[in-house]
Amino acid sequence: MPNDVLIEHLKGQLTRLTESAGDLVFTLTENGEILHASQRAIGIIAPGAVLCGSMLYERVDTPDRAGLASVMAQVVASGLHDRVNVRVHTSTGLHWFELELSSHRDLEGQTEVLVVGRNISGQQETKERLLHLATHDALTGLPNRALLSDRLRMAISHARRTGRGFTVLALDLDGFKKVNDALGYGAGDALLREAAGRLQKALRDNDTLARIGGDEFMAVLPGAAHADEINPIARRMISAVQLPFEIEGQSLYLSTSIGAAVYPEHGDNEVRLLAHADTAMARAKETGRARCVIYSRATFSAPDHDVSMEAALFEAVRNGEFFLHYQPIVNAVTREIVGFEALMRWMHPELGLIAPSQFIQMAESNGLINLLGAWVLKAACVQLKRLQEVAGRELYVSVNVSPRQFRNDQFLGLMEDALKLSGLHGRQLLLEITEGILMSDPAHAEALLLQIAARDVRIAIDDFGTGYSSLAYLKRFPISTLKIDRAFIKDLPQSVKDAAICNVVLSLAQHLNLTTVAEGVENEEQLQFLSHQGCSLIQGYHTGRPMMFDDAMNVLGAGAAELALT
Ligand code: C2E
Ligand code: CA
Ligand code: CA
Repeated sequence: MPNDVLIEHLKGQLTRLTESAGDLVFTLTENGEILHASQRAIGIIAPGAVLCGSMLYERVDTPDRAGLASVMAQVVASGLHDRVNVRVHTSTGLHWFELELSSHRDLEGQTEVLVVGRNISGQQETKERLLHLATHDALTGLPNRALLSDRLRMAISHARRTGRGFTVLALDLDGFKKVNDALGYGAGDALLREAAGRLQKALRDNDTLARIGGDEFMAVLPGAAHADEINPIARRMISAVQLPFEIEGQSLYLSTSIGAAVYPEHGDNEVRLLAHADTAMARAKETGRARCVIYSRATFSAPDHDVSMEAALFEAVRNGEFFLHYQPIVNAVTREIVGFEALMRWMHPELGLIAPSQFIQMAESNGLINLLGAWVLKAACVQLKRLQEVAGRELYVSVNVSPRQFRNDQFLGLMEDALKLSGLHGRQLLLEITEGILMSDPAHAEALLLQIAARDVRIAIDDFGTGYSSLAYLKRFPISTLKIDRAFIKDLPQSVKDAAICNVVLSLAQHLNLTTVAEGVENEEQLQFLSHQGCSLIQGYHTGRPMMFDDAMNVLGAGAAELALT
């Protein structure tokens, strides 16, 4: 092939290659002046215009120019290639492009920069939408708990640098549940949206309002650290909510109760601030509603309020001083272990081992139970997975769920996270709840239990027989298991009354197709009696004390070895 034909051929190939390499292809001088632009680039940016000789920066949206310039300088200096995302003015408006920059030398040894750009507007929008979804509440569009947590950390580090405090508010709408129950979810949602909008308007520009579930909100007020700064803002919020809401042609009246905690006086970390704002809010509700209570150590250290214990509990959460004991649950006939109840323990660095009876109630009243409970769920599921591996068969883990956890909107999500993290199937998790949980808000309990059951997770009534004795809920709610309280077991078989109670409960359970677990079985006579009455499972010191995870592993491992020998 003659030389000039070959050159024309190569030129043609090069042009086709350039045109297909990306949406925008440019060569630039090291200062950013356009030496050459592909036909596609001209078509996209300004059809018919001459781009050569102009600066690429002029086509880039002003806020993104500095980023481009710095990548350009690095590429020129290093001779390597790099990427940057910028918005480019095109004939159809502003679009996101990913630009890949690389530097070369031309025939005269001058540095040239090759820029290949791809339109990523679609991707960028999806990314922004996903980020928004992950950090905002879908109903009100307000930041969610995750974003609140982020803002709180920022506020803490800012306050540490500047020495200026800030305030966290906890808000709850008074009377919302009644409206929601009476008018239905549609009206409830409309009400929440409107209330969220009003609360937001009552705040200042750099305050953050977040919805953290149901009718609960929290706000971070940077720079406000004294009552005379907090109160006017709280008053504006309270007044905003007191105006009537016109929903579905009706005028509805609500109010809001607010609790405030100030950094650093009332807490120097996220957990304490949120919990203390919550405690103050509960006080606002108890003392008349539609008001704001600012946390103060004096108010909340009533004689029955063990402050040093509470402080230690906060520390313990931060330092991870909790672990789980596992108590075997065995088949009443074969005595084979079928599962374990996870029981929380606290190893205090000075006080030693602390039983749940000494801290669960406090954790329940200051809200820390939500954090603890989330941890228990995850830890129990993950450890059960390992116990099963040693046993070589399927087991289940029984986890206690307290009323406050059960009321928390995040509960279902936490349960799913625990299953996903551990890889357990839903049927291997059993949640123990008390009768009180079902009776205090049956509509909510029913909705949540149905969602839990839909994931195959089972529900047990703990301490059965000691609470409200309404049997109707056994029919209404999807319950799988009754745990007969130790109070009815401990005097068996001598006590005629207890024997009668056990007998009734066991036959009731049989008719309703429920599994039964007898709690606190301490000797062989009790076990024999229960087994003969048809009790399916046994839990108690007689068949296994609560033990460390490693001991549970050994018990299962030894059992497996024994079986292998016989
Ligand atoms: P519970 O759910 O009724 O747990 C059974 C309790 O009875 C455990 O006490 C267990 O150690 C004890 N026990 C087991 N077998 C026998 C026996 O044969 N005789 C006697 N006398 N006692 C026996 P523990 O571990 O002190 O737990 C007390 C309570 O604390 C639990 O009662 C439960 O309500 C609560 N709790 C424990 N762990 C958690 C948790 O992770 N979350 C929540 N929310 N509550 C928990
Ligand atoms: Ca229990
Ligand atoms: Ca129990």
